[in-house]
Amino acid sequence: MRLVSENQLIYIFWNVQHSVRKLVYRVHVKVFTREVDTTVGQNIIVIGGGGAGLGAAGGAKAVDPSASVTVFTENEDVAYSPCGIPFVHGKEIPSFEALFLADKQSYVDAGIEVRYQTKITAIDTSTKTVQIESDQPMHYDSLVISTGFSYANPGVPGGELDGLYYVKNIREAMEWDKRLDTVKKAVVVEASPLGVEMITALAHRGIETHVIDPNPWALGELADPDIVELAQESWAELGVTMHWNTSLQEFLGNESGAVRGVRTSNGDIECDLVVVATHKVPNSELAVAAGLKTGSTGGLIVDGGMQTSAAGVWASGDICEIPHGLGGLPLQGLTGSHAYAQGKVAGANAAGGNRTYNPVYVPWGMVAGKWMIGGVALGEVTANALGMPHVVAVADGISRARYYPGVKKVRVKLIAEPGTLRLIGAQMVGGEGIKERADFLGVAVKAGLTLHDLATMENVYSPPIGALNEPIAVAAQKGVASQMGR
Ligand SMILES: Cc1cc2nc3c(=O)[nH]c(=O)nc-3n(C[C@H](O)[C@H](O)[C@H](O)COP(=O)(O)OP(=O)(O)OC[C@H]3O[C@@H](n4cnc5c(N)ncnc54)[C@H](O)[C@@H]3O)c2cc1C
Repeated sequence: MRLVSENQLIYIFWNVQHSVRKLVYRVHVKVFTREVDTTVGQNIIVIGGGGAGLGAAGGAKAVDPSASVTVFTENEDVAYSPCGIPFVHGKEIPSFEALFLADKQSYVDAGIEVRYQTKITAIDTSTKTVQIESDQPMHYDSLVISTGFSYANPGVPGGELDGLYYVKNIREAMEWDKRLDTVKKAVVVEASPLGVEMITALAHRGIETHVIDPNPWALGELADPDIVELAQESWAELGVTMHWNTSLQEFLGNESGAVRGVRTSNGDIECDLVVVATHKVPNSELAVAAGLKTGSTGGLIVDGGMQTSAAGVWASGDICEIPHGLGGLPLQGLTGSHAYAQGKVAGANAAGGNRTYNPVYVPWGMVAGKWMIGGVALGEVTANALGMPHVVAVADGISRARYYPGVKKVRVKLIAEPGTLRLIGAQMVGGEGIKERADFLGVAVKAGLTLHDLATMENVYSPPIGALNEPIAVAAQKGVASQMGR
C-alpha cells in the first residue's frame, strides 16, 4: 500500500525546500545586514522617488501586494510634477501646491515605505545590499535603480556663484520663485526643452530675457528651423533676445559672490540670474561603481524587461538608455512619461512579473512662446545628420473650421522613406492640437504606416474642433503627389 501519493511527495519536497531557503535567508539577513521583516514577503528596494521610482514602486505592489517595497529619495517630497514648475514661474499656474499629485499618507496607505532625504551611497550586488549613508547595509531581493538625471555641468569658470538656477526640485523652486520678483534681467543657457519653457516663463513674468545656445536655432538637436521659426518670432515679440551660435565661456561674478553676467563667444551679457538648462545626463555614478554596464550615451543598459547587467537589479527612467524604434540607436534622457512607464515595467518585473518595455519613437511637444511645437521620431535635420535618405511633405492648414472663432494655424511636416513612403518622422507647429497629432503620428510610425495610408485617413470634421481638411492628410497627399511618376 502507498503511504503518500506522488503529488503529496512533491508538496512535501517543495515545503522542505522552501523552509530551508527561508532559513538560509534569515541567517544571511541576521548575520550580514540590518534586520528585515521576512514575514511580509520579498524585499524590494527602489532608489529614486521621481516618476520612474514611484512607477516602479506601484508596479511592484501591483504584481506582489505582499512585497515590502521601500523607496529612497534624496528629496523632501515625492509625487509632485516637476514639469509644472516653469508654468508656476510664468504665472500660468497660481501656486506650487497645485503640482503635488498625492500626499505622503497615500504612500503609507498603499503599503509603500518612502525614506525621504535619505541617500543610498553604495550598492553591493554580490551580497544584495544597499548602503544607506552611515547606517548599516540593507538587504534586497530585487533592486530598482531610478536615480534620474542632472543637467550637464557647463564646465566653465564661475559655477559656484550664487544666482545659477538649475530648475528641478520643487522646494528650491519655491525659493527661486520669490527671488524672481526682484530679477530684472536673466540669461537662459541653452534652448533645450526645459530652456524653451523657461524662456517663455521668464518673458511672461516681465523679466528681460536672453537665451544663448551653440546651435543656430532653438531645440537644435530636436526640431527643424522652419518649425521653431514661429516660436522664435513670438519670443522676439515678448522682448526675448536670442543669441544663436553662441557658447557659454564663463559665469561672471561680483565681489559678494553673486552672478552679474555671462561671458560668451559673442561678448558679455549682464544679468542677475542664469537658468542653466543644459542637456540631461544620467545620474549613474552609484550604478557604475556597483559594476553595472552603461552604453554609449552613459545611461544604464537594460534589456526588454528593464533588467540591468546585474542579476536581481532593474532600472528605469533617465538613468537608462533605450533603443529607438527606428534603427535601434540608443537614447537617453527621454521624458517623464517614458520614465513612469519604464518604472511600471521595471517594478512589475522586479516583483516577479514578466512585462516588456518596447523601443521608443518619442512623440514630443511643448509650448514655445505663443505656439505649440512637436513631432515624433526623425525630423528633417536629424535625418540629414544621420545620412538617411528621405522625402519631405509639408502642409499649412488650420485647427478648426476657417470661420470658427479661435481658429489657429497648423503646419505639418512629414518625413518618409523614399520609394515605400513609410513614415519615419514628423514635425509640427501650430496654435492647438499639436500634442494629439504627435501622439497619433507616433503610433503611425510604430505601425509602419505610409504616406499613402495617411493621404486617405479619415478625420473628424466639426467646426469648433477640427477643419474639413486634416493637415496631416493634406501633407501626405502632397507627398504622394510629389513622388508620382518617379
Ligand atoms: C523642470 C522640469 C520640467 C519637466 N517637464 C517635463 C514635461 O513637460 N514632460 C515630461 O514628460 N517630462 C518633463 N520633465 C521630466 C524629466 O525631464 C525627466 O524625464 C524625469 O524627471 C525623469 O524621471 P526619473 O524618475 O527618471 O528621474 P528624476 O526625476 O531625476 O528623479 C530621480 C530621483 O532619484 C533620487 N536619487 C538620485 N540619487 C539618489 C541616491 N543616491 N539615493 C537616493 N535617492 C537618489 C532623487 O532624489 C530623485 O528622487 C521635467 C522635469 C523637470 C525637472
